[in-house]
Amino acid sequence: MMTDYDPNNIFAKILRGEIPCKKVFENEWVLAFHDIGPKAPVHVLVIPKGAYVSYADFSAKASSDEIVGFTRAVGHVAQMLGLEENGYRLISNVGPHSGQEVPHFHVHLLGGGPLGALIG
Ligand code: 5GP
Repeated sequence: MMTDYDPNNIFAKILRGEIPCKKVFENEWVLAFHDIGPKAPVHVLVIPKGAYVSYADFSAKASSDEIVGFTRAVGHVAQMLGLEENGYRLISNVGPHSGQEVPHFHVHLLGGGPLGALIG
């Protein structure tokens, strides 16, 4: 399930500034912004600036610096939004069975209130 990266996907357009977003955080590796259809009181998307479709794509092709930069940025965003105290959930949808809508690798950061059990 490895499809080619589509440079016209919505998140690529957001990264190029062609579509606006409610930005939460940005550095050389990532952009984080509020999801347009929030599924929790806080629902932020963290996306790498590089062109990756899936987790496998990202983890295999991104440089070590980019992987570290992305991983740290997710933690930083959770902290800066005040989610560390009461907790939060990270989700990444990959491919058709997961319902991935936007083919640019991303992590959903959900919190700000009880989320209910997903697994367990
Ligand atoms: P996926 O199903 O690919 O994991 O999630 C894609 C997410 O992107 C969805 O939660 C959807 O609400 C969000 N989304 C889709 N289009 C836009 C947009 O134009 N702007 C923002 N901020 N979020 C979007």
